Amino acid sequence: MTARIIDGKVIAAALRGRVADEVARVRRDHRLTPGLAVVLVGNDPASEVYVRSKHKQTQAAGMASFEYMLPADVAQDEVLALIARLNRDPAVHGILVQLPLPKSLHTETIVNAVDPAKDVDGLHPNNAGRLAGGLAALSPCTPLGCIILTRSVHASLEGMNAIVLGRSNLVGRPLVQLLLNENATVTIAHSRSRDLKQLCARADLVYAAVGRPEMVRGDWIKPGATVIDVGISRLPGPDGKTRLVGDVAFAEALKVAGAVTPVPGGVGQMTVACLLVNTLRAACAIHGLPAPGV
Ligand code: NAP
Repeated sequence: MTARIIDGKVIAAALRGRVADEVARVRRDHRLTPGLAVVLVGNDPASEVYVRSKHKQTQAAGMASFEYMLPADVAQDEVLALIARLNRDPAVHGILVQLPLPKSLHTETIVNAVDPAKDVDGLHPNNAGRLAGGLAALSPCTPLGCIILTRSVHASLEGMNAIVLGRSNLVGRPLVQLLLNENATVTIAHSRSRDLKQLCARADLVYAAVGRPEMVRGDWIKPGATVIDVGISRLPGPDGKTRLVGDVAFAEALKVAGAVTPVPGGVGQMTVACLLVNTLRAACAIHGLPAPGV
C-alpha cells in the first residue's frame, strides 16, 4: 500500500485564495481592510523566516500588514506598551507576538496582554477557555490547519479514534478540543504516557506534535490511518545544509498509512493560511459583520 500524500501547499494556496476573495468583498462592501500586526523580539533566524512569510502572505491576501521588530534586550514594559497601542489601533484586527520570546521576557504576561478579540494566535486564556468550553473562539492556527488537512481526506471525523501526541497550549491541547468539536474520540498523549506504540496502533487519525524527529515509526500506524505530522526539527543534511524532519518516519508511514502529510509541505503551509483566516474572522467580529465563509 502507498499512502496518499496530503499536499499542504495546494490546500493552503486554495485557502489563501478564498481568504483573498472574502477580504476583497469586505473591503468593497464594508470599507474594511483587515490588518495584522506581528511583533518579533530578537533575531531568531527561524522566527525571522516565519515573520517574513506572514508579512508577504498577509499583503498578498489584500490585508494590511504591520511589522514591529524589537531588539532582544527590549524592556518588558516597552513590549506591553506596544501591545496596548495595538489593542487600541482601529487599523489592527489581529496581533501576533512571535514565540519563543527571549528569556528576559515573561511570555504569559505578554500573551495575556493581547486583546482577546485580536488574539489571532488563540493563546489568550479567554480564547483557550472558550475553546475548551465548546464556545466560539479564536483558535490556534496550527491545530486549525490540522483539521482542514484531515477534512481534505475525511468528509466527517465523527466517531473516529484520534490520538494527539503532545499537549502544548499551542498545538496539542487546542487540537484535542477541535477534534472533540468534530465528534472524534480523542486520546491525548505526552512524555509521561505509556505504550505510545499500542495507543497509536488503535487510531484512525494520528497527530504528531512532539518535536522528536521520526519518533512515530511505520509499525505504530494502523493500516489505512490518516497521519498528520506537525513536528519540525532541523537536522544537518548530507550536503551540510539543514533539512527539515517531522515527528513521523515518512518513508515507513507511506507504506502503511492511508494518507500522510509531508514535512515540509504539510502542516507548516497551513499555519500561515489559518492566521489569515483568523485575522479576517477577528476583523469581521470586531466590526459586527457575519463570520466570513472561509
Ligand atoms: P512543545 O511545547 O515542546 O510540546 C511538545 C509536547 O510533546 C509536550 O506535550 C511533551 O510532553 C510531548 N513529548 C515530548 N517528548 C515526548 C515523548 N517522548 N513522547 C510523547 N510525547 C512527548 O512543542 P510544540 O510547540 O507543541 O511543537 C511540537 C512540534 O511541532 C515541534 O517540532 C514544533 O517545531 C512543531 N510545530 C510546528 C508548527 C507548524 O506550523 N508546522 C507549529 C507549531 C509547532 P510533556 O507535556 O509531558 O512535556
